Amino acid sequence: MDHFALRNGVLHVEDVPLPAIAEAVGTPVYVYSRATLVRHAQVFREGLSGLDDPHIAFAVKSNPNLAVLRVLAKEGFGADVVSGGELTRALAAGMKPDDVVFSGVGKTHAELVQGIEVGIGQFNIESEEEGHELSLIAQRRGVRVACALRVNPDVDARTHEKISTGKRENKFGVPLDRAASIYATLAEQPGLEMRGVAVHIGSQLGDLDPLETAFTKLGALIAELRANGQTVTHADLGGGLGVPYKKGETYPTPAEYGAMVARVTRDWGVRLSFEPGRVIAGNAGVLLTRVIRSKRSGNGPPFVIVDAAMNDLARPAMYGAWHDFDAVEPTGERMTAHIVGPICETGDTFAMDREIDALSAGDLAVFRTAGAYGATMASSYNSRGYVAEVLVDGDRFAVVADRIMPHSIMDAERVPEWL
Ligand SMILES: *Cc1c(COP(=O)(O)O)cnc(C)c1O
Repeated sequence: MDHFALRNGVLHVEDVPLPAIAEAVGTPVYVYSRATLVRHAQVFREGLSGLDDPHIAFAVKSNPNLAVLRVLAKEGFGADVVSGGELTRALAAGMKPDDVVFSGVGKTHAELVQGIEVGIGQFNIESEEEGHELSLIAQRRGVRVACALRVNPDVDARTHEKISTGKRENKFGVPLDRAASIYATLAEQPGLEMRGVAVHIGSQLGDLDPLETAFTKLGALIAELRANGQTVTHADLGGGLGVPYKKGETYPTPAEYGAMVARVTRDWGVRLSFEPGRVIAGNAGVLLTRVIRSKRSGNGPPFVIVDAAMNDLARPAMYGAWHDFDAVEPTGERMTAHIVGPICETGDTFAMDREIDALSAGDLAVFRTAGAYGATMASSYNSRGYVAEVLVDGDRFAVVADRIMPHSIMDAERVPEWL
């Protein structure tokens, strides 16, 4: 069931027509569907039903909005966080500290302290150096903290290079061939309880094979660690499942993913954790925008200039990513156009030579699949302020992030008196 559908010719999110949101909140605005988030959470959990008590930690970086996190907390999800700020959000949204996993190559001293103080469930250590520092901090506080060692399996995830994380040359984890010796060293540190291993090879994966290769390597590592006398009770398989950004594309389903995991991990004898982000949030949101005007230059297709820009949705500018773009009230007429934002940079281009619904000044449209890595990557470039966010629930909706106006950002700036 699709919670983003045309009714009487008007695009709705659940039971709310998008023009009503544009009118009340203005544009551009991210609009999320609670029912879709819940459905994705349930489908993901069902996909893992062949496993014994899997732990699911939503990757907060994909959509850190407090209301979104609250929806997922209510579905029993924990959180995978990569900064102190995300940790604070996860707890504020009602996720239990014990259900929080802390990943990231550059956790600062203050962030390690914060994680210990709030009692998170697991640190995913990404280097021997980090492990030593964490142990010292824990020791000083008289505690031992549960840890997994993140390994870099040197697997090509076959995704965009900027979101590939499991190749030897990527900064993440420790090299697989050094993992056993680093694990042994860290297991001797008095502040650490080494209990498992972790991998995350990248995002927007369209193929299960690289994941299977990585998990198989992880399984061999677990066997090696145990043969060395180490304790391994947990394994974190990360996130990465891709989602369709183009109508008609197909991606591995959570059920196919879960079946592969069950097969590969059958003999591991560990509690498995998962860190899905995009697959939960991506298709649960759209970016609603209004056409400012169209302009022609030369003989080519017109530029349709919308009021959303690369500062609101960075993925096209950053990764050359595709987002389907549809009119909120399509007439059935089509046109070919370049879709651009107002920012003074050519990178502020959402699509070139795209066949789209015919649009003219004042019309509303959406960029689809904008619920993950959308609002969270927003900036205020060109002094445009920060985009607002709305959550729909049936026939009601609420602003879940205010639009931060340029003057509010300016309020935080100072001109020194000596200028
Ligand atoms: C980004 C990230 C995820 C989530 O990736 P998705 O592709 O959104 O599922 C999970 N784990 C770690 C460590 C990450 O960095």
